[in-house]
Amino acid sequence: MIQVHGYAAQHAGAPLTPFQFERRAPGPHDVQIEILYSGICHSDLHQAHAHWGAELFPMVPGHEIIGRVVAVGAHVTKLKPGDYAGVGCMVDSCRHCSACEEDLEQYCDEGATWTYNAIERDGVTPTYGGYSDQIVVEERFVVSIPETLDLKGAAPLLCAGITTYSPLRHWKVGPGQKVGVIGLGGLGHMGVKLAKAMGAQVVMITTTPEKGRDATRLGADEVLVSRDPAAMASHAASFDFLLNTIPVGHDVNPYLALLKRDRTMVLVGALEPLQPALNGANLIFGRKSISGSGIGGMAETQEMIDFCAKHGVVSDVEVVPIQQVNEAWQRLEKNDVKYRFVIDMASLRGEVA
Ligand code: NAP
Ligand code: ZN
Ligand code: ZN
Repeated sequence: MIQVHGYAAQHAGAPLTPFQFERRAPGPHDVQIEILYSGICHSDLHQAHAHWGAELFPMVPGHEIIGRVVAVGAHVTKLKPGDYAGVGCMVDSCRHCSACEEDLEQYCDEGATWTYNAIERDGVTPTYGGYSDQIVVEERFVVSIPETLDLKGAAPLLCAGITTYSPLRHWKVGPGQKVGVIGLGGLGHMGVKLAKAMGAQVVMITTTPEKGRDATRLGADEVLVSRDPAAMASHAASFDFLLNTIPVGHDVNPYLALLKRDRTMVLVGALEPLQPALNGANLIFGRKSISGSGIGGMAETQEMIDFCAKHGVVSDVEVVPIQQVNEAWQRLEKNDVKYRFVIDMASLRGEVA
C-alpha cells in the first residue's frame, strides 16, 4: 500500500482538514501519479455539502488532477515515469456495456466509478480524489498531458474542459453559428474559449455585468446580461446553440426564447429540479430541445487535451496553497473567482515534510 496525505471533509459541511489514508500499490495496468495541481470544481462543494443527497465521508474531493508519473505497472503502454498525466472525474467503469464499448464510460450502464465519493468496483474500497499528494489509477482512465501545456492551467481541463468540449462537439458547434455560454464560472470560461477555438461566434450570457470585460478578453464576441429584459429581447430567436452552466435549479424559460427553431440548449450545471417549472410551450413553439450532458469519455478527454494543446487553450487560474482551500471554497460559493481555483500540491508536501 502507498501512504497518502490529503485534505478531507469528515462530514457534510465540515471544513477540509489534513487526512492520511492508503491507496493500492500500482497493479500491472496502473499508473501511479505524484499530484502537482488539483482544480477546485463547484461539484466539490455540492458533494461535500451533500447538496445532491447522501454522500460518503470522509471525503477527499478533487477531480481535476495533473501530475507526474512516478511508477507504472508492467502492462502499461501509454505512459512512463516522468511523463505528465491527468485524471478527471472517473477512475473506472464496467468496460463491457454498450456505453463503455462506445468510449462513453461516463454513461456506463453499471455506473462509472467516480474519482471520489464512490466505492471501487471491489465493492469496499472508497475512492479519494485529487486534494492529495498521490493517486493510483488504471491506464484507461489516465490521459497524457503534452509538455507544451501550462500544467496549472491544464488541471481544470480534466473536468471544466471536457464537460464543455463534449456537448460543443456532440451538437457540432462550428463556424457560422451563434453560440451562447450561460454563466461565467469555471465551466463557462472554458466554454467560451473552446467554442471560440471551434470557430463559432460566441456570446457570453451572464448575470454579472462586471464580468463583461473579462468575457471579451476570454474570446466572447458579445456579452448579454440575462437580468436585462430588453437586451434578452433583442437576442430573441437568434442562437444556434446554448450551453447552460448555471449550478442551481433556475428559470430556463427566458433562455429558451433565445434559441432559433429546431435548436438545443444543453444543461451541464443544474443537477436538481428546475424552478420555476419548464413551460412546454417554450419547446413546442419552434420545435426546440433541452438536453443534458455529463463530462466526456476517456477517448474524448484525450482528444480535448490534444485540441487544447494545438489551440493554446488553458484555464485562467488562481493558484492557492492547500492551507487556503476552505477560503477558496467560500469565495467560489460567492461567485468570486477568476475563473478557476487550482491547488498547488507542493504546499501539501511542504506541510508533511
Ligand atoms: P462556478 O465556477 O461557480 O460557475 C457557475 C456560474 O454560474 C457563476 O460564475 C455565475 O456566472 C453563474 N451563476 C451562479 N449562480 C447562479 C444563479 N443562481 N443564477 C444564474 N446564474 C448563476 O461553477 P462551475 O465549477 O463552473 O460548475 C457549474 C456547475 O456545473 C456546477 O453545478 C457543477 O456541479 C456542474 N458540473 C457539471 C458537470 C457535468 O458533467 N455535467 C461537470 C462539472 C461541473 P455569472 O456571474 O456569469 O452569471
Ligand atoms: Zn467537476
Ligand atoms: Zn459500462
